[in-house]
Formats: sequence, C-alpha cells, structure tokens
Amino acid sequence: MKNRFFSSPPLIAIIIAAAIIAPGLSSQADDKVIFISADGLRPDAVTVLGAKGAPNFDRLRREGAWTGNARTDVIYTITLPNHTCMISGLGVVGPSGHGWISNTDPKLGENLHKNRKAYLPSVFEVAHDHGKSTALYASKSKFSLYDLSYDEKLGAADTSGEDNGKDKIDHYAMNEDTTVLVDELIATFKDKPSDFTMLHLRDCDSAGHKDGWDLSPGSSYLAAAGKVDGLVGKLLEAIEASPAMKGKTWVILTADHGGLTLTKGHGEAKESDNYTIPFFVWGPGVPAASDLYALNSASRKDPGTANPPYGTPGQPIRNGDAGNLILSLLKLPAIPGSTINAAQDLKVSAAP
Ligand SMILES: [Zn+2]
Repeated sequence: MKNRFFSSPPLIAIIIAAAIIAPGLSSQADDKVIFISADGLRPDAVTVLGAKGAPNFDRLRREGAWTGNARTDVIYTITLPNHTCMISGLGVVGPSGHGWISNTDPKLGENLHKNRKAYLPSVFEVAHDHGKSTALYASKSKFSLYDLSYDEKLGAADTSGEDNGKDKIDHYAMNEDTTVLVDELIATFKDKPSDFTMLHLRDCDSAGHKDGWDLSPGSSYLAAAGKVDGLVGKLLEAIEASPAMKGKTWVILTADHGGLTLTKGHGEAKESDNYTIPFFVWGPGVPAASDLYALNSASRKDPGTANPPYGTPGQPIRNGDAGNLILSLLKLPAIPGSTINAAQDLKVSAAP
C-alpha cells in the first residue's frame, strides 16, 4: 500500500505534463521535409530556361530562399561522394571526412561504415531515432549504398528515447524512370506521407553524359532540366493538395554537382561549372524571393567563383549543409560528429 501511494504522484505528474506539452509537440510532429537532389543540375540552366521554360524553379525563386551559387564538396564533384556529404554533414576526405569516394554500385559486403572504419551517422538516423518516418526515393541503383548501410543489420541501435529500431530508412524505392518514381512518392501524400523524404532525380545528369552539358536552346540537357522542373511542379501541387502536408512541408532542392560546358562529364573538381550548384528552400516561414547568402551573412559568404577549402572563415553554402538544415527544420539535433552546418546555423527564415 505504502509503495503504491508513493509511486502514484509521479505517474500523475507525468500524465499532466504530457497533456500540457502535447499541443506543442503535435504541431511539430506534423512537420515534413522533402529533400530533392537534382543530379547534375546547373543553376544557370534554370536561369536560361527562365520563368517560361522552368515555371516551377521560378516559383521556388519567387516564393522561397535560394542561391544559384552554392557549392559541392571541395575535392569531389561526383554523385555518391556528394550525396554522402548531404546525408552526413561531412566533407569527403581527411580525418573528419566521410571517406566514400566510389561512385558505382556498392560491391558485396561494402558499406559506409566498413569503408570509414567507423560508424557514419546520418540525417536518416537522427530523424528515425526521434520517431520520424523516413524514405529514400532514388533513380540510380547505386543509392542502395544508403539503404544497406542503414538497414536492420548495419544501422546503429537507437539509444535516444523510445527505441525506433536499427533500420533508419523506412521506405526505399528505386526507379530509373523519374516520372514513375515521383508518382509513386506522390501516392503516399494522401494517407501516409513520410516525415522526411529524400528524392533523387537523375535526368539532368543522364542527358549531360549522353549529349553534353549544353545550355544552348533546344539541347537535351535543357530539356531534362525542364522535365525536372515539371516533376518539382507536380510535387508542389501534390503537397498543396494534401491536408497532411499543406503549410507544414519544406522543400529543399540542391544538386550533387554541375557539369562542364559542352563536355559529357563533371569529374574535374577545380572547374567552377562542376562545383557550382543551386540551393533552394521553400516552405513555412521561408521569406519569398530571398537570397540565402543575405539571410546568412553572419555565417556564410558568397564564394564568388571559388570553392574555398573547408575550415576557412566564411564558408559558402554547400550541398553538405542539407542534412543538418533538414534536422533543424524538424526541430531535431545535428548529426553526431558532423562538421558542415553542425551548429545548424544555416537560416532559412528572417526570424531571429
Ligand atoms: Zn554524372
């Protein structure tokens, strides 16, 4: 009897506290982020297409915060190394880098952690460990690297709060046909949109490798950028048509690299065509038609035409900022051990 008497008050206190906290938590719990990587998209392709040729990129510019002068990693301007920067908040090389330099389908037994000889934390697990649902929609088979590195075998134990399991990516989809892939994603918006979705769109890169990074009118590269614009438009429309998402979903769009003018490649990391990428943020609280560098004058510096090394004061906005930006929008802590946007100081609103 005595025990029960003394154990009761704390339980009641917990219930009351939960009831008081619940309204605030529930509004946060609804927030969603869709993070799009447009593989090989050069920001000047958006400019050349203009409002007529790329009405949805134009909408992101008019309604959101953006820059056409963001940066890739410093040493690598290829797909998997840069996507790994995005999800880990780390550069590629060096003692604190994520270390993944391969750009092909992972070979049997390979994974991010084994390669690094240390566990590589990512945006997927911070979100998942905090009870968020996560999804990765990819249009190249090599993105299986992420699904397998964060599956129930290789994902880390969830030691924060409730145990949400070791498999950090709840839903993984791969389809080289990006129209089908986006339709598949949109189909989830009605009933069960994921809290965090990463979407990879290969079209610009595929056109660039086939026919060249060619920004002249009628090029297949520009046509691919126009196709990606249309897919982004479909997504924006579907978000606004979904009561579960409208007004509580951020869209972030960047690229893993650009591509060298009139060539069929993007591997030379010293070429500004390759390391210059767009970065768009659209969603609640994001000021319309605003410049991301102006919003972040205290912490980031427009690099002009350079790609300054990590660690130098006044870093550019990088695709590697995305992981910790996603988490800050979801009001979650930074990726453990990350170095890019680790202070989560990349601001996408004018609020202090
Ligand atoms: Zn490529």
